[in-house]
Amino acid sequence: MGKKKVFVFGIDCFEPSLVFDEWRNELPNLSALVDSGISGRMRSTIPPITVPAWTSMMTSKDPGQLGFYGFRNRKSYDYEELYFANGAYIKEKTLYQILSRNRLSSIILSVPQSYPPRPLNGIMVGCFLTPDKNGVWTYPEEIAPEIDSLADGDYIIDVKDFRTDDKEKLLNQIYEMTKKRFKVVRKWVNDKEWDFFIFVEMGVDRIHHSFFRYHDKNHRLYEKGNKFEFAIRDYYIYLDKEIGSVLPLLDDDTTIMVVSDHGAQTMKGAICVNEFFRKEGMLTLKEDPETQKKLKTKDIDWKKTICWGEGGYYARIFMNVEGREPEGIIPQKDYEKVRDEIKNKLENLGDENGNSIGTKVFKPEEIYREVKNVAPDLIVYFGNLSWRSAGSVGGGEIHIFENDTGPDDANHAQYGLFIMSGKGIKPKKLDDISIYDVTPTILNQFGLKKEDGMIGKIVE
Ligand SMILES: [Zn+2]
Repeated sequence: MGKKKVFVFGIDCFEPSLVFDEWRNELPNLSALVDSGISGRMRSTIPPITVPAWTSMMTSKDPGQLGFYGFRNRKSYDYEELYFANGAYIKEKTLYQILSRNRLSSIILSVPQSYPPRPLNGIMVGCFLTPDKNGVWTYPEEIAPEIDSLADGDYIIDVKDFRTDDKEKLLNQIYEMTKKRFKVVRKWVNDKEWDFFIFVEMGVDRIHHSFFRYHDKNHRLYEKGNKFEFAIRDYYIYLDKEIGSVLPLLDDDTTIMVVSDHGAQTMKGAICVNEFFRKEGMLTLKEDPETQKKLKTKDIDWKKTICWGEGGYYARIFMNVEGREPEGIIPQKDYEKVRDEIKNKLENLGDENGNSIGTKVFKPEEIYREVKNVAPDLIVYFGNLSWRSAGSVGGGEIHIFENDTGPDDANHAQYGLFIMSGKGIKPKKLDDISIYDVTPTILNQFGLKKEDGMIGKIVE
């Protein structure tokens, strides 16, 4: 028997309904893996956002245990602006650390929060959070020129500015990025020593956000016969071919997985959460903005403010609590009462015609096992993520239909996908796979035990 290996295709935002159903017949390589293995939708983190989702997958810990709740987080209860959580903020033990300790080697290629790269038994290449390639973006550092040369001189970590109107240029960039990534993958699969190999391709996420209106018949801007109608489908087909080009390089003792951190769905519009709070008398600015602009905490009149929110695919609501925030006004004893009032108001906020949209509002301590660092007071899925949250103030509108941070047609969906195929794995469909199961499942493939405190289960 050969040496057991695990290879993971990490496809950011890969949508299960498109892979498993809609384009099943057009994706022969993925469909063959589905037919020969275990597959199903995979429930993501709350919120289903790239950060923290990939790290929850690689630690089997929830965002509360990790202590970051999205890309941007509050450092303290002061009113300073939010910080970006890159890999330096990961305190929990990761899968590759456990494998390193067991003398198994890993290649971690652009998995979100693999920047800044950290030492391990193997190779780590920075993810899309890498600011540029002038600093150290690989471990070991010396491998950077090699990866660039394998990628025709310039490995593309992420496309630049995917919220653009220049769709043609963006589409070319997405293809170029993916093509180069797979060149590196094929070469390293063959040439490097590894037991565990994972890479993450960002192209699907980028193409969903920028091309969903052309593809999805339910999008309000969809036009049949438009130039980019099949852009997403064609890219899925192309990706399936690239995946198919790697498969013959993997031997029979390698377990093959395909995972995504969340799915995608049409975005109906955005809800200006801070405009809503202003209308409700819960947020007061020092001066009324003349036009729509980003909310800056320095512009808030704290003595007259109960709460404020952040934009993004979901909303984070922060409350201004006495003795907690510098100029807090909500008495501590009223915290729960006020929080429930805000929750109710948000749940009852409908679409532009007042129709209910099925908004979900979460309290961190009810969804996480622990709540480390500074969590939002409430986490909001407007219209169960069919609407995004816009943080801007001014303009007077609560419902807007063009995103305030550049064109964006898709929101994330709660379920990504999971496929696992290999020797000894019997084909079946599962409907209870969670993102926390991935690390225990991979450890199990190597004959290693699930560690104490991991919250996922073994899929087998
Ligand atoms: Zn993602």
